[in-house]
Amino acid sequence: MIKLQRQRTPAAVPGGLRGSYRRRKYRQLLLDHLRGTALDNSYWTSSSWAPAKKQLRRETGGKCAYCESPADAVAHCDVEHFRPKDKYWWLVYCYDNYLFACQICNEVYKVNHFPVHGPQLPAPKVVAPLTDADLDAFLTAHLPDPLQESPAFHLACAGELPGLVDPYAVDPEPLFRWRADGALKEVELLPRDNTARSQQIFQAVQDHYGINREQLRRWRWTLAYKHLKRYKKILDDAGSRRRTTACREALEGILDMMNPGEPYAGMVRYFACDAWDLFRRTATGFQPVQNPGAPSRRR
Ligand SMILES: [Zn+2]
Repeated sequence: MIKLQRQRTPAAVPGGLRGSYRRRKYRQLLLDHLRGTALDNSYWTSSSWAPAKKQLRRETGGKCAYCESPADAVAHCDVEHFRPKDKYWWLVYCYDNYLFACQICNEVYKVNHFPVHGPQLPAPKVVAPLTDADLDAFLTAHLPDPLQESPAFHLACAGELPGLVDPYAVDPEPLFRWRADGALKEVELLPRDNTARSQQIFQAVQDHYGINREQLRRWRWTLAYKHLKRYKKILDDAGSRRRTTACREALEGILDMMNPGEPYAGMVRYFACDAWDLFRRTATGFQPVQNPGAPSRRR
């Protein structure tokens, strides 16, 4: 997993999930809630959030937001509600609750699991009659406008201490480390450290995203790690003489693999930056680490 950035422009957020369409959807939802119409799975229709798919897909670079598998090659992806709609009914049309996730992460593992270690967001109270002012007050109090940053909403969400990771809300990279197994030819995710929080989050993503399922461990090796390892070998063999074309191409190759749209970029970044110290994270991207053994440049 890597950090994702939500685009909040009218061109990015589908018309049906903002402005008057969003208002209309919520009016109907609240009226049905007041009537006591069952808000179970048969109530929801995916056509309501399907228009978000194209933009969410663009924001993840065509990968599952959880497992970073490429949607076209290994996993069919769809719009996923981070907070499940049966537990958070009022977030069903909330754009900030959507991400692009594969069917295996979403439908086999996550389903409607959503462990929290703090107080759960309270379900809003809806009272009749539902005037326009009531609807506006509801939307202002409980839902973020998809066209604006809404720090209060995200602070309230963070207060739940969710066990699972929303890559739009938190940077997942510092939470985990990775271990490659050369005999099995696979790469697994591990907690970053021994703190209770790190262990807790690791356990949740393992249980509810299936982040260490066998196929995924192997894909990581096949699609990314083995290529990364070849680049590293070129650099290791060169020692302090890294000014060759082969070394430059190896560094460029690794840089490409760390791009947000590349499969398993989070894992690649861990090995390249944290485990092997080949690159440094900077405010603007990644910089190759100067080889300490390289001869100094003399005029
Ligand atoms: Zn996935």
